[in-house]
Formats: sequence, C-alpha cells, structure tokens
Amino acid sequence: PRVYESHEPDLPIRNMSIYTRMFGSHRPGDIGGFPSFIRAMIDAATGTTVTRGQLKTLTLSFAQGLRTHTATAPFAKRGDTLLIFSRNNFAWPVVLYGSIAAGLRCTLANSAYTSHELAYQYKDSGAKLVLTSEEGISTVRAMFAEMGLSKDVGDMRTIVLPNDLRWAGGPAIKAVPEAAGFVSLPDLLSRGALAEEEKFQGDAANETVLLCYSSGTTGKPKGVETTHQNLTTLVDIVKVAWPPLVPGEQPVLGILPLYHIYGVSNLLTSSFTIGAPVVIQTKFDPVAFCANIEKYKVAYAFVVPPVLVVLARHPAVDSHDLSSLEYMLSGAAPLGADLVKMVKHRLLSKRKPGAQCWITQGYGLTETSPSTHTLPFLESDRKVGSIGFLLPNLKARLVEDDDGLVDAEIGKPGELWIHGKTVMKGYLNNVPATRNAITPDGWFKTGDVAVRDKEGYYYIVDRRKELIKYKGFQVPPAELEAILLTHPDIADAAVIGVDSVEQATELPRAYVAHADPAKVATSEAKAAFSTSVVKWMESKVAKHKFLRGGVAVIETVPKSAAGKILRRQLRDLAKEEVARG
Ligand code: AMP
Repeated sequence: PRVYESHEPDLPIRNMSIYTRMFGSHRPGDIGGFPSFIRAMIDAATGTTVTRGQLKTLTLSFAQGLRTHTATAPFAKRGDTLLIFSRNNFAWPVVLYGSIAAGLRCTLANSAYTSHELAYQYKDSGAKLVLTSEEGISTVRAMFAEMGLSKDVGDMRTIVLPNDLRWAGGPAIKAVPEAAGFVSLPDLLSRGALAEEEKFQGDAANETVLLCYSSGTTGKPKGVETTHQNLTTLVDIVKVAWPPLVPGEQPVLGILPLYHIYGVSNLLTSSFTIGAPVVIQTKFDPVAFCANIEKYKVAYAFVVPPVLVVLARHPAVDSHDLSSLEYMLSGAAPLGADLVKMVKHRLLSKRKPGAQCWITQGYGLTETSPSTHTLPFLESDRKVGSIGFLLPNLKARLVEDDDGLVDAEIGKPGELWIHGKTVMKGYLNNVPATRNAITPDGWFKTGDVAVRDKEGYYYIVDRRKELIKYKGFQVPPAELEAILLTHPDIADAAVIGVDSVEQATELPRAYVAHADPAKVATSEAKAAFSTSVVKWMESKVAKHKFLRGGVAVIETVPKSAAGKILRRQLRDLAKEEVARG
C-alpha cells in the first residue's frame, strides 16, 4: 500500500481521561497549563464569565451532585450514559465535563430532534438520564411517554438547564417555572464537590467517553464510540493548526452546535487546552454573530460554509466593527474558493491597509474525533479550496476499491482512509457496521474521495457514501427512505443530495414511486402530490432533514440487480432537471 504520513513529527500519546488532561493542575493556581483566574467561558447573552478555576469547581460539583442525588445516583456510576439534548447554553461545559469527571459517557443529541428521533438515540445509546434545556422539556416528556414511562418517572430522569443561568460566586439560578418534578441543577450543584475526577489511566484511556451519532457510509445513525485517548490525542495534534492567540484575552466565538463533534471538540475541548476563552452563543443568528464579535472582541470563529454566505451578503456586517476577527476556520462541508474570496474581500475592505483576515478550512468526521486535515492559515490564499495537510500522528491512504487492494496513482483520486489514535473505537453495539468501516489493521474508510497534490495538500473531490449534508448536519438518506416507505401512497423511494451554490449546501431531494401511478398521471397531480409529501415529511423529522430539494415522482426507483439504489443515476437525473429548470 501507498501510505502517506503527516510531515509533522509524531507527538507522544497520553493515556488519561480527557478531564485530567484539561483540568489537571501541575502547580497551585494552574489549570491545564494556564492560570486558574483567566477566563474560560463567556455567556454571550449576559456577559457572565467563568474562569478556568470556577469551571473546574463547577464541574466537580456537578459530578458530586450526580453521584449523591437520589434520582441520579443509580444512573451515575462509571460507564453509565447520560444524554444531552440541549441547544448551546452557558451550562454545557459544566454538565458535559461534570459528567465526564463522574466517569460517565455522554451521548449528544441534535437539539432539533423530534421525540421519535430522540427516543431512538436514548434507547440505542443505553442512556438512563437526560439533560435538556427549557425548550427541550416537551420533547423529552413526549419521548418518555412514547416509551411508556410515566411522567413522574420521566421527570425524575431529567435535569433541566434554565435558559437564564448566572454564576454569582456560586451558582445563583433562576427557577424554571415548569421544573417542579425535575432534578434541579441548583440542587445538583449545591452538594459540595467531588474530591477528584474519575481516572482513566493506562488501558482505561480506551474507554468510551462520547457517543455522537453518525450514519457513516450507509444506513441509519449509529453511536460513534469516541474514547478518552481519541480526545487527548486530538487536542494535541490540532495545536499545529491553531492561530497564535493570547491566552485568556482573545476569545473564540461559539456558534457551532455543541452536540456536534465539530462544536464540542473545538469549542469545549481544544479551546480550553489552548487557553482561549469561548463566547457561547445560543445559536447562529447573523446580527447576534456580528454584535458578539464586536462586543467581545472575538479573534477566531469556527464556521460552516453557509455562515460565510451570510458574511458575504448580510447588512449586519456593515453596521458592526468586526476588525478583531482575524481568523475563521470552516469545516463540516465543502468550502468553495469563490465564497472565501468574497468574504475576505468584504471584511478587508473595511480594515486598515495591512490588516489581516484569514479564512481557512478543516476536514474531519465524527468517526475521527473529528479533525484529520487542516489548511494552515498562512497557506489559505495560495491553496484555497484545499483541506490542507494531514495532522500529526495520522496516516492516510487513497484507495480505488472497497478492499484497499489498489492504491490511486499519485495525484489521482481515491477514497480517503485514515489510520491513527483519533479513529473511533467503533460503532456502539454494531460489529457489522464497525467491520465495514474499519479494516482489521485499523484503517478507517471515510467514504470521501480525495486527491493529494505534490506538496502534500489534500482536496476533497467527491463523496462515495450515501450521506447528505445540510448546512453541516448529517441527513442519512436511509432514514428518510424508511420514513417515506411508511407513507400509504408511496411504493418506493430514494433520497439524494442536490447542490445549492447559493446557500453553500446540499439539499435533500426525494424520488418517489406512487403506489397507484394512475393517480399522478398529470403534471398537476404530480406537483400536488410532491408538495403534500414535502409537508408530510415536515411532521416527521427535525428541520435539517426537511426535503428542501423537493420531491419528484418517478415510475420506478433505479436499482442494481442486488437491489441497491443507483444513486449516481439519480444525481445525474437531478442535474438534468436543474439544467431544464
Ligand atoms: P460529520 O461526521 O457530521 O462531521 O460528517 C463528516 C463528513 O462531512 C465527511 O465525511 C465529509 O463528507 C463532510 N466534510 C467534512 N468536512 C469537509 C470539508 N472540509 N470538505 C468537504 N467535506 C467535508
């Protein structure tokens, strides 16, 4: 095999808990290599700040609360799983690292999920406790009801994060009106602090700590077993890609969803190990995005391509001072060179001559914890469009066939395979899917097609797997197809992604065969049926899975002799349809 190595030297692997790595103190007054009094997290809405020292105390208090509260104690033993179902909230780092300090695994769910989608993850992950925000209460209650659990029992397994959280020396928290029957966060935080975190030294570092869900190359979402060692390795290897920020002084803006591996790893893990405070914003909103950059003098923002589309066009960019924003890194989806140029041009046109604004790109997957490649900021103009170099400690192959017997010629495209300590342990309770994804000698198959140029820069040129990405969120076609097949008028269905250059994203589009073709014989009948299916889907799934690319009625879904949907054929069909208007 033709194996490419990172040109950065290997870094030592640490066998410890990610909590110990982040919050360990080597000297009095030191937390993870930086003074305990510097800022760790800032609540964008209120400006409330938590220092590194306060964050450590709060996490150990949360761990103590989980261990001692009568409702949570039976489900808070080492290795138990807690599900976090919340949009971004100032308390996220407290509950995530508090749970990890108690030795728990956390499974992170998309905050837009329906009760049905949430129930799937709750059951599949084996979680027994749920942590949610005020907005999530009704969905969690509906989930427990669907599972046949009484309201009282469900509520006692639910910890609610109030929207308005203020830490005043200790936690002073506004009561949630509805929270009577829930486990209360102030109660959990008021029981003293765990003396020391649960340790994961030596081989125990290979125990699972995060369970984010990904559909991988095929099928339904699966629990990705991310280990302590995956994360301790990741925080070290991504250091080569961080800009030079003054610790405690130059903040990072936290708009990525914290339940996605891209958000959690960069905003809650790497930023902390680099000493950068994070301004936590509830969700992306163009005006709040610009206002927070101005107010908190944000230096670095992690984004997805659709956020850059907004920066290229939105009037808020003109009415705010964004001059502190020197660096942006886009990930989770392909980034077009034209978009980068437009945003750079717009931001720089408002700055003094000689001022800088770097926009670069990273690549990775939930299964690789996530980053495997980053384009250095200083090369971002020369190599625009590239995902950059392989990070340290990783190896890559570009292969032509499923079995890895044929390597792509140098400079030619092949499926990107990754080897290294950031590759997940496997898919939870799913040996066949794990075997499909990781070869016996540890190569993880990304399902993405890449080329590598002579200088060692990689470019993603295609995707071999079924996965669709809407604004960076995974949309597994198999999941939508299974739902479409429950529609009484649909005989067969296939879902593919179609590109929207305007929105810098793919849009999920369905091709359906009607159970009674005579009913959709005219183009008017077809159009009416398509519209009804789009609407129907909106009642079934979270927003990012809506069929924004439309529904087309076809006679039969094209399939191979083995019954596999011929997605390539449908993608070509979609291109023809677009060309025809
Ligand atoms: P996820 O596990 O949700 O992070 O999705 C991983 C997938 O997102 C990858 O396999 C790619 O298909 C896609 N992806 C992530 N980053 C990039 C990028 N910079 N360029 C192109 N595709 C990307």
